[in-house]
Amino acid sequence: MTDAFVSLKKLDKQYPGHHAVRGIDLDIRTGEFVALMGPSGCGKSTTLRLIAGLDTPTSGEVRIGGRRMNDVPAFQRDTPMVWQSLALFPFLSVVENVEFPLRMKRIGPVERRRRAMEWLDRMGLSAMAGRDIAQLSGGQRQRVAIARALVTQPPVLLLDEPLSALDAHLRVRMQTELSRLHKELGITFIYVTHAQSEAFALADRIVLMSDGAIQQSGRPQDVYREPANAFVAEFMGMNNILSGTLCGRDGAFARIDTGAGRFRIPAGALPSSGPARFVVAADRIALSAAPAPEADNRLAGTVIGIEFVGSVQTVFVEAGGAEFRVQKQQHEIDALDLAPGRAVHLSWQPAHAWVLPQNT
Ligand code: ADP
Ligand code: MG
Repeated sequence: MTDAFVSLKKLDKQYPGHHAVRGIDLDIRTGEFVALMGPSGCGKSTTLRLIAGLDTPTSGEVRIGGRRMNDVPAFQRDTPMVWQSLALFPFLSVVENVEFPLRMKRIGPVERRRRAMEWLDRMGLSAMAGRDIAQLSGGQRQRVAIARALVTQPPVLLLDEPLSALDAHLRVRMQTELSRLHKELGITFIYVTHAQSEAFALADRIVLMSDGAIQQSGRPQDVYREPANAFVAEFMGMNNILSGTLCGRDGAFARIDTGAGRFRIPAGALPSSGPARFVVAADRIALSAAPAPEADNRLAGTVIGIEFVGSVQTVFVEAGGAEFRVQKQQHEIDALDLAPGRAVHLSWQPAHAWVLPQNT
């Protein structure tokens, strides 16, 4: 990719006794909003710190704007970072906090006050300029931290789980605000989170990591619908992963024998025999009181439980010796009168199965 703004090349970080980042390659375009996602300890923050220059790589390269950054100290990189524990200065007022990076850049007092006030105004905080940090709410502090990070007009903003200390209501409001800022400023955002909902709400692209390596990089909907391997499918949640033995083809579809039954799946590049694995997303499975007459892929099961998590519910069904998760709206659950112990029939279209690549 030639228009990469932030470029990581075979980037590697080994701590004594722990290999935190394992030679990752990643190109991020100017203006892109990328979410680094993955379970706790997978190396997200380390990757961000390597980009910011708060940590040095064991090997490999960080390039920003075409320039090798390995030996450029953090304060000369123009890569401000916002994180959960805000690191605002308690002994400075709100406006002085926002002015601070401009002071470091030796911008004169009048100009830096003007620019800091402009940012406070933009973040809806001008009335609080003279206050102490301690007099602000969590959400207001987070907005001060964002203003302080952006006041120098950096080309990239790094965010490390910036909203995880906020309550759910405030988190959603701040997501909207970050999204708006990203659109208005047109700069690159690199956003670390372990929360799928946040990544999906905000990012143009998801980079999913595990154990120091990138598992998949792509648009949220593609990572969700077309997981590169079983780790991704499981991390995305709400997927049913089935494995079995291929037993023939017909046209664009292959037949596969699994412990739960024989199914049709997209044949793609599959061989005609041997082991294979596929995923059926929980929202792709239909439930019915009687067997679906035309369906290629169907099996009978028993409801084990229903998890109520808002407008969409998860129905757990035991079928063919496997446990399936099925997502349904409440009215569909009511219409079928589903409850634990009830018999139910599952079916899905062959084209809605996603075959996991071999050797993953
Ligand atoms: P994440 O942000 O994805 O939760 P981190 O990048 O913070 O993960 O950490 C990745 C791994 O590296 C973790 O196992 C962590 O314990 C380890 N690690 C992070 N910083 C250090 C350090 N300074 N010294 C030793 N190990 C570290
Ligand atoms: Mg972290």
